[in-house]
Amino acid sequence: MSDHVSDHLSTDGTHLRLRAGAATDVGRVRAHNEDAALAEGMVFAVADGMGGHAAGEVASGITVEALRELAGRRGLRPDDVIGALATANQRILERAARQPDQRGMGTTAAGIAVVSAGGSDHWAVFNIGDSRVYRIVDDQIQLVTVDHSEVRELIDAGVITEAEAAVHPLRNVVTRSLGSRPMPTPDVWVFPPHPGERFVICSDGLSNELSAAAILDLASSADDPQQAAEALVHGAVQAGGRDNVTAIVVALDPGDGDDGDVDTAPRGANGTVA
Ligand code: MN
Repeated sequence: MSDHVSDHLSTDGTHLRLRAGAATDVGRVRAHNEDAALAEGMVFAVADGMGGHAAGEVASGITVEALRELAGRRGLRPDDVIGALATANQRILERAARQPDQRGMGTTAAGIAVVSAGGSDHWAVFNIGDSRVYRIVDDQIQLVTVDHSEVRELIDAGVITEAEAAVHPLRNVVTRSLGSRPMPTPDVWVFPPHPGERFVICSDGLSNELSAAAILDLASSADDPQQAAEALVHGAVQAGGRDNVTAIVVALDPGDGDDGDVDTAPRGANGTVA
């Protein structure tokens, strides 16, 4: 996958300049790579497919194609992202109904998109399943998404610890995935951009192999997001590569030397939209 640069004149006149890179690897154990990635326009996403007979690859591919249809559009709303995920869900179900060997296929989806909210550009971070979005700002890494997984629910219920989750037999079981009826509810977070920040979007093949601290180190190891994405994937394969590994790094340029007007807006509500 190649370098990606997007320029976007936002609705309030500020200028967001994004650079992105994406990398993927089948890993050391799996026969097929069922992950898919999208870095186009102002939409960046990872989908991690599941299902026998390579059907996972079909489900993840359908999902990035549905999101790609947003990439050329201006003034996206958070609802447009949710709509594209619903479209993907419907197409996966329709495809599975026609192809019995693909029945039961599904996929995660996680990513970020530039959307218009309150008259200015914001990030919409979204996820279904256990693919993740991390945000790096001021050399700190924060997991933005919350996994929809059995182990996350067991941790939240106080049944197991984070350490126990890492080796738990149910660690690969997701509680929400595209390809389900009814349409699973995506989580969406909307917040303003911060100059100089970076995002890492990844499949669980990365986050199961690397700690947040290691992800921070590798994502910051190169200014070029493509090099950083490749370093992340390489690191996860070296650490075991027990699953397909995919990473996208999106960097928001620091701006024109001033503090950046885009940072002066109030943070607003950081809550879940959907
Ligand atoms: Mn996976």
